[in-house]
Amino acid sequence: MNCVFCKIMSGEIPSYTIYEDDLIKIFLDINPDTNGHLLIVPKKHILDLNEMDDSTLIHIMKMAQKHRLILEEKLKIDGLTLIQNNGMIQEVKHFHLHLKPYYKDKQPLKDPKEIYEILKSLD
Ligand code: AMP
Ligand code: ZN
Repeated sequence: MNCVFCKIMSGEIPSYTIYEDDLIKIFLDINPDTNGHLLIVPKKHILDLNEMDDSTLIHIMKMAQKHRLILEEKLKIDGLTLIQNNGMIQEVKHFHLHLKPYYKDKQPLKDPKEIYEILKSLD
C-alpha cells in the first residue's frame, strides 16, 4: 500500500519516533507548526475517526494525556492543541492525532533532531 505512515510503521521511511508499543507509534511531524509537534499514529492502517476501534481510540487519548506532561516537563510548553483531520482536509489518509504545543513566548523552530534528543533524554 502506498501509505506514508504504513511505510513509517515498517521502517521503510525513517521517523523521529519518541514512543512505540503494540498499538501505536508517536513521532515528530516532519513539518512542525511549533517545536515538539507530535503525531500519534495507530500501527494498523485505519483511515479516520469513524474507522477507529474503541480500544485503540482510548489508548491514543491516554497517550495524549501522558505526552502532554512529557512536553510540559521537557519542552516547557504552555498549552497543547489536539487536532485530528477527516475527509477532504485530511492530507495523509491514515489516522493520526496531532499534538501541537503552544508557547506563550514565540519560539524559533528548532531542528527536529534537536527536539527528538530532548524528548528522548531520560532526565
Ligand atoms: P493531515 O493529514 O492534514 O492531518 O496532516 C498530515 C501531517 O503529516 C502533516 O502535518 C505533515 O507534515 C505530516 N507528515 C507527512 N509526512 C510525514 C512524514 N514522513 N513524517 C512525519 N510527518 C509527516
Ligand atoms: Zn497506512
